[in-house]
This record gives sequence, structure tokens and C-alpha cells, in this order.
Amino acid sequence: MILVSACLAGEPCRYNGTGYLCPEVGGLVSSGQALTVCPELLGGLAVPRSPAEIIAGRVVTVDGEDVTDAYQAGAQLALKLAKQAGCQTAILKARSPSCGCGKIYDGSFSGRLIPGDGVFAALLKTAGIVVQTEEEIIRDE
Ligand code: SF4
Repeated sequence: MILVSACLAGEPCRYNGTGYLCPEVGGLVSSGQALTVCPELLGGLAVPRSPAEIIAGRVVTVDGEDVTDAYQAGAQLALKLAKQAGCQTAILKARSPSCGCGKIYDGSFSGRLIPGDGVFAALLKTAGIVVQTEEEIIRDE
């Protein structure tokens, strides 16, 4: 079983109420090979919600609200589901403050990227789950 960001399967769980369908991920879900999770919703956040970025190790919305606790709680719950399903690999949405891996926004809400992982991607790596973005799986094909 492969763990995937729910928005990549087209679920409208992004901060702005949209999905971000990646056909390859949608195919894995349709064929029963992937488990979808949205750590931000699992953490109790709503759709829509204010966009957030990581600033000095904290997750902060564009309105200045510190939502780190919700991000961490959702990530822990999603990891638990991944372990229960036996997931050893994950395909996660690039650049998200939860799911991004390798590159995330720099906290200035200006679109600038810096090296780093989102809260959930970092937790999965710590748990030994191999993580890549949808952009990497498309590029590797
Ligand atoms: Fe998609 Fe992850 Fe953001 Fe949920 S937390 S909307 S799964 S990128």
C-alpha cells in the first residue's frame, strides 16, 4: 500500500477548497493500491482555511495565526493510519507546509522556495517511510 496526499487523488481538501489531481496517483487509488490522507484535515483544520507556511520551525498562517499544533497532531494521526495500512512509501504534494518534501516556501508568502520538508513529510521520513512528490514520480517515468 502506498500512502498518498488526498488532494493528489482529486479530493478537494486544499486550503482553497480545491484538489490537485495527479492522474498517476488517482490511478493508484482507483486500483486499491493507495491510501489517501490529508494531515491538515486530520488535525482538525477546515476547508477552506488560510494558507500557511513554515517560519522558524513554526507553521503560521498568512493572517499570523500559529497553527503548528494542528499540523503536528494531524501528521501524527496520518502516520498512525499509514502504519496500520503497512505503507512503506509515500507520494506527497510538492511544496505544501505539511506534505512538501525537499522544497517548501520560505515563510514570506512571496512564492520563494527553500530546501526543507513539510511537517508531515518530515515525520514520515523520521519513521522510515520513503517519501517523494508527485513531480518526482512524473519526472521518473
Ligand atoms: Fe494535500 Fe497534504 Fe495539503 Fe492535505 S495537507 S491538502 S493532503 S498537501
